[in-house]
Amino acid sequence: MTTTIATAKKVPVTVAYGDGIGPEIMDATLRIITAAGAQLDLERIEIGEAVYNKGLSNGIEPSSWESLRRTKVFLKAPITTPQGGGFKSLNVTVRKTLGMYANVRPCASLHPYVSTKHPSMDIVIVRENEEDVYGGIEHRQTNQVAQCLKLISRPGSKRIVRYAFEYARANSRKKVTCFTKDNIMKITDGLFHRTFTEIAAEYPEIENEHWIVDIGAAKLADTPEAFDVIVMPNLYGDVLSDVAAQITGSVGLAGSANIGDYCSMFEAIHGSAPRRAGQNLANPSGLLHGALLMLVHIGQSDPAESAHNAWLRTIEDGIHTYDIYKEGVSKKKVGTREFADAVIERLGQKPTHLKPAEYAKDVHMNLAIRPAGKPPMKLRVGVDIFIDRRDGNPDIIAGAMQLLTVPGTKLTIISNRGTKVWPNGNPDTYWSDHWSCRFETDGTELFTAQHVVKLLEAADRAGFDVIKTEGLYTFNGERGYSLAQGE
Ligand code: NAD
Repeated sequence: MTTTIATAKKVPVTVAYGDGIGPEIMDATLRIITAAGAQLDLERIEIGEAVYNKGLSNGIEPSSWESLRRTKVFLKAPITTPQGGGFKSLNVTVRKTLGMYANVRPCASLHPYVSTKHPSMDIVIVRENEEDVYGGIEHRQTNQVAQCLKLISRPGSKRIVRYAFEYARANSRKKVTCFTKDNIMKITDGLFHRTFTEIAAEYPEIENEHWIVDIGAAKLADTPEAFDVIVMPNLYGDVLSDVAAQITGSVGLAGSANIGDYCSMFEAIHGSAPRRAGQNLANPSGLLHGALLMLVHIGQSDPAESAHNAWLRTIEDGIHTYDIYKEGVSKKKVGTREFADAVIERLGQKPTHLKPAEYAKDVHMNLAIRPAGKPPMKLRVGVDIFIDRRDGNPDIIAGAMQLLTVPGTKLTIISNRGTKVWPNGNPDTYWSDHWSCRFETDGTELFTAQHVVKLLEAADRAGFDVIKTEGLYTFNGERGYSLAQGE
């Protein structure tokens, strides 16, 4: 269902009031930004529980997609995701369907008005939103072992890293930090890190640095003021953006933007808090922050700045909802509606202690995808044949694999869950039922797809339970596959 709420000559925006506390915080947010001068033409769509209950497993009706494609801007209140099988996450569906590749989450503390161990924290997490393990490509091929594919692409990495640097430039941020685990995942995270280094060179005025994610995360939790903008692959970003929001003092205050080339979505980071619904209790600040990011995105920085400063002033004046109310610091405990009224009353004012918000005008981010250079020379050099074998023994498997005798190939290594077990395996290594047998060229001829086919036929005839293969390639001579531990 699509309902047009207002039709003046304004920027079209699709809004969804969501579930639980959603309608109350959306109402408060829209009142504040409208009073601040936002020029919006709102199209309301229904999402969430009611739509799931109609039997639509995505939680969104087909007509709503039309609205999203038309307006290209989505302000979304939280929804309740039904428990149990069959229902898909609406957020993931919308992000992936509409290609929203960047998730942007500013996290700033409001010391001393909201308690935090990090009084001067002011960072922005830029999380890649589509790739990594979030393809959800998982397989279980043996009794004992399951796998999840982690996919990192060069264009995907370029886009998100460029977004982080353009964001930093547009918002006068001084440094972009990259977190990866490329000491272990040298090929996937290594690609992300290398791309970061390449693109950073195009922004000499912005400092750049890279941290291994584990120690980076520890430093983020301990000394967040050492960071400015942090860009990360999807999984690390998912985890650490919540940590970053939490250590500002309250997850309830943060908003986020999901940015794509065509459509973007803005929301609070918290959920629908069903137990607080309908009681005029909820804090609308998270959704308000999502809406401020939206206003900047559609070129309405002035109302965004005005609403943000009035909000800071309200927080500073101690007018707090229950979730941030603290005896001795807060002055007045208010409900959702009264909080919005207090912000509206303060429009035109600035905070006196907290740093006033200042939004750049006419922000232009140059996110055009640059043409890729000449593709590297790709050469097949072997294949990993994975087999399922219970009570296996590497020497016995190697003996049988060596009998496959496909001319031009040789068995070079057998590994079990990434650890070399043949030749010269360590007797203490645990052997699961998931074995990888690597065949490479014996140097007499190039390794072709025909070698793979013949090896698979021979392995099948020999009674091996082949569960998958992975091609081994080099790119301009650089190895495109990992070595086993101990190799
Ligand atoms: P939640 O964020 O809704 O609530 C966690 C805690 O924070 C609760 O104690 C709640 O009362 C409080 N809280 C959250 N937002 C608040 C606000 N604005 N003001 C005051 N207090 C607030 O997380 P949950 O309880 O795990 O999830 C509830 C539902 O929300 C679930 O169905 C979940 O799937 C869904 N959810 C939706 C989104 C989304 O739509 N983006 C995100 C997260 C969770």
